[in-house]
Amino acid sequence: MTEKKNVITAFGMSDIKDYDKLIKEFGVSPMTSLVRYMPDPIAVYRRGIVFAHRDFDMIIDAMEKQIPFVVMTGIKPSNFFHFGSKIVVDQLAYLQKHGGKVVFAVADVESLADNEMPLKEADAIARDNIMDCIALGLDPKKTEFYRQSEDLTVLRAAQVFASNVTNNMLKAIYGLHELKIYNAALVQMGDILKPQLENGKVRTVVPVGFDQDPHIRLVRDIAKKHKLVPPAGTYNKFMGSLTGSAKMSKREPEGLIFLNESAELACRKIKKKAFTGGRNTPEEQRQLGGQPDICKVYELYKFGLIEDDKELTELYKRCAGGKLMCGDCKNLACKKMTAFLNQHHKKRKQAALSVNRILKTKA
Ligand code: SF4
Repeated sequence: MTEKKNVITAFGMSDIKDYDKLIKEFGVSPMTSLVRYMPDPIAVYRRGIVFAHRDFDMIIDAMEKQIPFVVMTGIKPSNFFHFGSKIVVDQLAYLQKHGGKVVFAVADVESLADNEMPLKEADAIARDNIMDCIALGLDPKKTEFYRQSEDLTVLRAAQVFASNVTNNMLKAIYGLHELKIYNAALVQMGDILKPQLENGKVRTVVPVGFDQDPHIRLVRDIAKKHKLVPPAGTYNKFMGSLTGSAKMSKREPEGLIFLNESAELACRKIKKKAFTGGRNTPEEQRQLGGQPDICKVYELYKFGLIEDDKELTELYKRCAGGKLMCGDCKNLACKKMTAFLNQHHKKRKQAALSVNRILKTKA
């Protein structure tokens, strides 16, 4: 049997094949044992989509004892949100509902460094991303928004933290990159520690994809050096492209369902482009059953298109037992996606009214 190899890069594509192995390799803790201590855990926690953490126990403790805590997120405005982006926003909204103060960095320094995205273009995308966040349940009144490129605390912190790292450390953590990338990484350290630098020690959690673990490890070390609370991290799995490639990527738009696109287009992608775990013929499928574990339509359901766990389990059983055919299953996915997107677009329209106030236009 060939060994499944995980490739993790903080800047660039990560190819993760085996999440259990990742937990051991990187010395993070599995989420499974913690979920039962969380109040009303949402689907991404219940279904193991958020699969690992560092120090998340202290956030659960804060939720339970009503101790203030911060939820830090940096959204790189380099592309519109897609269905897979929902995973992080769901966590932000949940943690906010349970007492966390959300601090939201528009990571425009990072999109400039990593994607050569001019700040003005990044701003337009950031506005669209924020509309999605609000439509997905983030309360803007309880959220602090700012742009990396104009936040003095963050930019100064990056300068100070530069003396806590060496070129060799950066190379070992991020690989060989141009200076602008290392600078963006230091700015991200500033983002994560900004709440503590401005208001004193506070428990902080950063929900991210696993490819961001190098940042979390480094920022935890820097926090210790500056006598701050090392931030916790939670790590979610990536949603693969609908077409079956490893990670949703904007280079392959037919594999992504964007949250601002029409339901018709989304349905076309589901029906024409989705890689399924179906068999060659309906007879074969009835005999052998489908393979939901490798199916991208099932992945949509699991990542939130079906909210109810019982309904999800039932669908899984019907597929694996040969009782559900892929055509019918795709029609159902399309119906659910249409309902979700239509509702989401209405909420986006309402959210658009607050975005100008949230992100004041730059001079
Ligand atoms: S029936 Fe649905 S879940 Fe099963 S393989 Fe086909 S599309 Fe996927």
